[in-house]
Amino acid sequence: MVQKGQIGVTTDNIFPIIKKFLYSDHEIFLREIVSNAVDATQKIKTLSDVGEYKGELGELSVTVSIDKKKKTLTFSDRGIGMTAEELDKYINQIALSSANDFLDQYKENANAIIGHFGLGFYSTFMVSKKVEIVTKSYREDSAAVKWSCDGTPEFTMEETEKQDRGTDIILYLDEENKEFLEKEKIESLLKKYCKFLPVPVVFGKKQEWKEGKYTDLDEDNVINDVNPLWKQKPAGLKEDDYMKFYRDLYPMSMMDEPLFWIHLNVDYPFHLTGILYFPKIKNNLDLQRNKIQLYSNQVFVTDSVEGIVPEFLTLLHGVIDSPDIPLNVSRSYLQSDHNVKKISNHITKKVADKLEELFKKERSQFEEKWDSLKLFVQYGMLSEEKFYDRATRFTLLKNSDNKYFTLGEYKTLTEGTQTDKNGEIIYLYTTNSQEQYAHIEAAGEKGYDVLLMDGQLDVHWIGLMEQKLEKTRFVRVDSDTMEHIIEKEETTSVELSEKQRESLTETVKSQLPTIDKTEFSIDFKSLGETAKPIQITQNEFSRRMKEMAAMQQQMAFYGEMPDTYQVVLNVQHPFIQELISASEAEEKEELVARVTAGTKLKQMVDLALLANGMLKGEALNSFVKRSFEMI
Ligand code: ADP
Repeated sequence: MVQKGQIGVTTDNIFPIIKKFLYSDHEIFLREIVSNAVDATQKIKTLSDVGEYKGELGELSVTVSIDKKKKTLTFSDRGIGMTAEELDKYINQIALSSANDFLDQYKENANAIIGHFGLGFYSTFMVSKKVEIVTKSYREDSAAVKWSCDGTPEFTMEETEKQDRGTDIILYLDEENKEFLEKEKIESLLKKYCKFLPVPVVFGKKQEWKEGKYTDLDEDNVINDVNPLWKQKPAGLKEDDYMKFYRDLYPMSMMDEPLFWIHLNVDYPFHLTGILYFPKIKNNLDLQRNKIQLYSNQVFVTDSVEGIVPEFLTLLHGVIDSPDIPLNVSRSYLQSDHNVKKISNHITKKVADKLEELFKKERSQFEEKWDSLKLFVQYGMLSEEKFYDRATRFTLLKNSDNKYFTLGEYKTLTEGTQTDKNGEIIYLYTTNSQEQYAHIEAAGEKGYDVLLMDGQLDVHWIGLMEQKLEKTRFVRVDSDTMEHIIEKEETTSVELSEKQRESLTETVKSQLPTIDKTEFSIDFKSLGETAKPIQITQNEFSRRMKEMAAMQQQMAFYGEMPDTYQVVLNVQHPFIQELISASEAEEKEELVARVTAGTKLKQMVDLALLANGMLKGEALNSFVKRSFEMI
């Protein structure tokens, strides 16, 4: 007897809603249908285990097949199946409460809609004009049922013939979705969503390339690995297993081998398994993101885990599997979810534990890996207070001699020699050891140490450390003359008259080249007779403002401002002394001396520019010519 009825929805018709709102994500019908088949299969296994099902289990795979002629896609399982009553209850009675409000709110998020309504099965109507279910329950003497629905709220249900227990879902694909009849398309979707499902998913036969074409072999083409590495006990696993799994996860990419990994395995108070790999992080943060795959009981959900783990952890690679992460809610809701918070804290703690363990056990190896880890650790310290607290135990500073120090060790090293008259320790650093070479060497001569800070996040990290570390300041090596960069005691004052200053400023400025977006100011210091006559420095504060601005849109104004450099004249140097007296001269013959001093001055200014890598183009060329003439 054919039974007719209306699917129990409270809105007029659910199908236009499904088609309209779920359109963007419509491939997930495949995940929904295969997951249902896997669930039904696992249920029969469980029933058999507990003795409630006494028959043969037989082969328990889920099969996916395409019929191009009929334009159908069929999913078959040998799970528990459904009786007519069950079918009516689980498929026909869908509660659609307050549907419109909800749809308005979540129209962008197909996962949310599907989960909210328990619409897994109905997602098939995103791609089908008609869907049939042919099912037979495992229960003795139950009749097979065929359910059919053509995308209107009307369905038919009738008794049918079916040999075996289990369910076939047959999708009659509509015109716009014919792509799902392509073998390659289905295979790639199965690989995406079903790669690690716990029941074998079979899609056709394995093939062999023979005499210019592919031919089917006898062996089934099983899509998935039913026992993925993250579900296994870590004790029995070797390094090779983890490396192989990493390549399995990212078969298409050319990523370097990971530095190390963490195997997550929590049963209480939430379920979480997974493996997180630490990649070698190069300088571009963004390229690294969205590599962690999120699974729920081995079903692939997404590879965008923002909102679920702290942002810095999205730089890691690997897999997280937790049925306790609510998948059917918006991202903003996720962040406030209790379980998600716990899971996220747990992962953060495990990551910090792992780094600390490595640092303690194998410091030399940790140092070797530090350059590839630094960006990740700094990102974590900058964005997560909890991680910061832990990371202070293992974060390293690297100096210009490529030696590594913990924060504590570095303090001990520099305390004393680099403490200024106010009791502040000055950490000197370079952002480019080639360009700032002269300053680094000068620091060395003074017995100062110089840190290498050439990473993408160093500017921000320095800012953070200055807030956290007591009485510590970071100063770039070229931000002042070495005699003044760490003020030790009251320095010798400069005794020049206003007129002398003005005239000297004018003379020196006239010798400076014009460089785009660059300004110079003239400064006078008493640095002793043997120190360089002219040096060029760049004030720490204004330089940092500019660097921060370059990274933040709102401060673009600062970014447009020119770079300001100080040309520091050492008034105790004999040449500058000469210049001072010449500048006062009114007499003719002394003006001649002033001209020769002028060439010499130009040469000295150029040398100072050269030492800072600022002499370029025409200015550099005329410097070279002038030097030859002088020789
Ligand atoms: P959900 O899976 O979220 O419960 P679905 O709409 O996908 O929602 O499925 C509704 C119900 O229909 C399932 O809970 C299950 O009881 C039943 N069902 C769906 N597919 C199958 C299947 N292949 N075998 C047995 N029962 C199924």
